[in-house]
Amino acid sequence: MRILLIEDHERLAGFVRKGLKAAQFDVDLAAKGSEALENFECVRYDAAILDLGLPDMDGLQLLKELRAKDTAIPVLILTSRVQLADKIKGLNSGADDYLTKPFAMEELIARLHALLRRPCAVLGQTLKVGNIELDVVAREARLDGYDQPLHLSRRELSVLEQLMRRGGKVAPKHLMEQSLYGAGEDLSSNSVEVLVHRVRKKLADTGANATIHTIRGIGYLMTADEE
Ligand code: CA
Repeated sequence: MRILLIEDHERLAGFVRKGLKAAQFDVDLAAKGSEALENFECVRYDAAILDLGLPDMDGLQLLKELRAKDTAIPVLILTSRVQLADKIKGLNSGADDYLTKPFAMEELIARLHALLRRPCAVLGQTLKVGNIELDVVAREARLDGYDQPLHLSRRELSVLEQLMRRGGKVAPKHLMEQSLYGAGEDLSSNSVEVLVHRVRKKLADTGANATIHTIRGIGYLMTADEE
């Protein structure tokens, strides 16, 4: 389960991340609202933990932008705003749960598990670029009209998903790295390049009509080929 933790307080973020990792969650960290929105565009998260006092925007504003985009992702607000009116406002803005600081790590984890047990509204979501279809829940990619899924490793599939999710926009390499490896994990500087190379080759070998372009110094862009 991959969680996006949106929190600008560095020490608290470190503490929460450590606790979540110990509970077997993968955790990405965004210290600003703008970073979080970038992450959401690129990565499929199972849930998000949202601080309301962010340096560049209010957490509630971020939540509104997120909900406007589609996303049925469960969001838990974690904040020092303890007033009832704040809680109601948070829940009315589309949050699924609300926990106030200070909090016990065990409670945060229990609440996350409860959120993740809820049936997701986006079951069976399929991404499409050219003749490639990727079922983000079944974790399978195939070419339109073929029965057999493409043979992709977990990380290759993740690379493909991130590229397809961008919908004609560049996927920044640093975000892809973060999503693939998580912070602190050992990572050689060309790992994403190697994965992209492999995905590119497999797509070409199977007759996919989409191309992964390298945007030097920035990242990668996937487009459907012209008919
Ligand atoms: Ca804050």
